[in-house]
Amino acid sequence: MHLNPYGEYAVLLAASLANNWPGTRAGIEARTRDHGMTMTFPVRPDDHERTREVVDEWLAVVDAPDPPERARLLNAQMAAATAYPRLTDHDGEGWHLHYRDRDQSLPEVLRAVVSVGTALHLTTRGMHRLARCAAGKVPGDPCTAVVVDVTRNGRQQYCSVRCANRAAVRRHRARTKTGV
Ligand SMILES: [Zn+2]
Ligand SMILES: [Zn+2]
Repeated sequence: MHLNPYGEYAVLLAASLANNWPGTRAGIEARTRDHGMTMTFPVRPDDHERTREVVDEWLAVVDAPDPPERARLLNAQMAAATAYPRLTDHDGEGWHLHYRDRDQSLPEVLRAVVSVGTALHLTTRGMHRLARCAAGKVPGDPCTAVVVDVTRNGRQQYCSVRCANRAAVRRHRARTKTGV
């Protein structure tokens, strides 16, 4: 997989897994293909369960209250998951960097790719560009989706047009009530 300078594909892959968790290992692998990973991995019986742990650890980074805590959690994950950067040219992708050892399992590789990708995304685009959907922050709202802000202006707050509209309706109602 090519981690571009912004780590965008990896962090979007993590959000995709978190927001729409695949029911099977094959579903996880299909999702890695959709996000540009070309490698195949040896099948292990606990891959599905262990990938879920990787996603849950990543969600702790998403939910970190401030940048220092976010950095602390990511540093711990990178320390546990990554190796020296390594030049590789597997599967005709052209020479690129891997941040992990060879012959690792699907969850181990995802932990390395996602933690480094998220660190690249946050340090190049901004530490705040990873959050839960703003619509879901209102009590009683069902949305728990993760928003990876890769927009030019860095102001994406909602996971979808639907959530943005729901929040707009709420704001409108609040204004009407107070008579502004
Ligand atoms: Zn690769
Ligand atoms: Zn939402």
